[in-house]
Amino acid sequence: MSNEKKRMTTASGAPVGDNQNSITAGNRGPTLIQDVHLLEKLAHFNRERVPERVVHAKGAGAHGYFEVTNDLSKYTKADFLSEVGKRTPMFIRFSTVAGELGSADTVRDPRGFAVKFYTEEGNYDLVGNNTPIFFIRDAIKFPDFIHTQKRNPKTHLKDKNAVWDFWSLSPESLHQITYLHGDRGIPATFRHMNGYGSHTFKWVNDKGEAFWVKYHFISEQGVKGLDEDVAGQIAGDNPDYHVEDLYNSIDKGDFPAWKLYVQIMPYEDAKTYRFDPFDVTKVWSQKDYPRIEVGRMVLDRNPENYFAEVEQAAFSPGNFVPGIEASPDKMLQGRLFGYSDAHRYRIGANHQELPINRPVNEVNNNQFDGQMRYSNGSGSVNYEPNSYDTEPKEDPASKISPFEVYGEADSVSYDSDDHYTQAGDLYRLMSADEKDRLIDAFVGHMKPVDKDEIKLRQIEHFYKADPEWGERIAKGLGLSVPEGVK
Ligand code: NDP
Repeated sequence: MSNEKKRMTTASGAPVGDNQNSITAGNRGPTLIQDVHLLEKLAHFNRERVPERVVHAKGAGAHGYFEVTNDLSKYTKADFLSEVGKRTPMFIRFSTVAGELGSADTVRDPRGFAVKFYTEEGNYDLVGNNTPIFFIRDAIKFPDFIHTQKRNPKTHLKDKNAVWDFWSLSPESLHQITYLHGDRGIPATFRHMNGYGSHTFKWVNDKGEAFWVKYHFISEQGVKGLDEDVAGQIAGDNPDYHVEDLYNSIDKGDFPAWKLYVQIMPYEDAKTYRFDPFDVTKVWSQKDYPRIEVGRMVLDRNPENYFAEVEQAAFSPGNFVPGIEASPDKMLQGRLFGYSDAHRYRIGANHQELPINRPVNEVNNNQFDGQMRYSNGSGSVNYEPNSYDTEPKEDPASKISPFEVYGEADSVSYDSDDHYTQAGDLYRLMSADEKDRLIDAFVGHMKPVDKDEIKLRQIEHFYKADPEWGERIAKGLGLSVPEGVK
């Protein structure tokens, strides 16, 4: 290997003669337009940023591997899950949801938990959160919901009125906001939280039999939260606390790991389960469908370049592999569109060609051209059907498994409006100390709301989930549970 230093070049490869002094007419200037290195340097600098993600803007990523520890091939033909011991490279991105790229890590907010498995049959993306449920259950409400989490369009300030107005008018959010205001709402680090696929997905085996599944990544580091006061102080002292913790842990060889489990529901059970199992505001009780181990995920390598690998990482819940399919979950169905569309806007129609997003297997199709395309393949026939017996050929064995639909096409909600039982179960399983902290967190967050009408509407939801809970929040806010509710 040569010991020669690498020569600095322009983007077109020409050597740069002077990177400190621009070319000027005499040493008093003005600057000459013929200094193309200067022009390129300034112009490229202006274009260094891509639009930040509207949600999940702030995050950290890591490479690792997933190893199968339990043979579940009777439930799925997914190749990367086909045998015990099989290892698949993966990349994960953790994130907060509402804050901007430079916002503090230790805020009360769900955390994104997005995993890309580079399987031999294409990338499988499991784009989840650290909560097993979500605030809403129909994608049509998503832009409005996120507007309430972001800045007020007039004041440019975060707006507690908007937050509680929306939540109190969307009682399906109660379960998730309970999770969020409990001890898990501010994780101690990214390593100390579980990850959940949240939605229901479909697994299909090699006989074409289908099963419904939910994914749970359980942290081997344990689940730990941060006290709200401590979190607030860290947010001021070190807004990148979680990003730093993940990087440093991996850097010093302390590799975080998670066990992956699934709950498996037989296909027919979905028709008669006591609520709609596709409603993402509900969990499936583990008493009905216990967790079954699948494998272990280990994060053992930091990215070499944050922008290339983390900022440009493009996850989509629509990236499936044979043996894993979508469910009719209305929130998931919207996400199948929204994620890839966001990446097309942020980083372009060919974002899947970038090294971090590129599958390890060959990609063959008739999608051509577009900005930054460089792998159009060869040959002159880019259409189907054609008379030239060209490749690639579709693979009928990879068609999705059929599933029945019934009812009438209409804009309708899920059948059940019971938003209270599972939220109440979560409240009741908390220890007395955690309940105290939960009440304090709710009261603290609701106090700045200026309309009592909003607070009373939300108190009604707490009361319906558990009367003691409603009474305690009302007392904390200096209000009473409305008579009509009791
Ligand atoms: P289980 O007793 O079988 O499961 C309870 C689960 O609750 C545990 O597995 C644990 O999840 C989670 N949990 C424990 N403490 C807390 C806490 N302080 N904050 C948030 N989650 C906690 O009962 P069910 O399956 O019937 O569920 C009862 C309630 O538990 C649900 O209404 C739901 O709110 C909550 N829950 C259920 C989950 C599920 O998938 N069934 C997952 C998470 C919460 P973990 O092991 O993942 O840490």
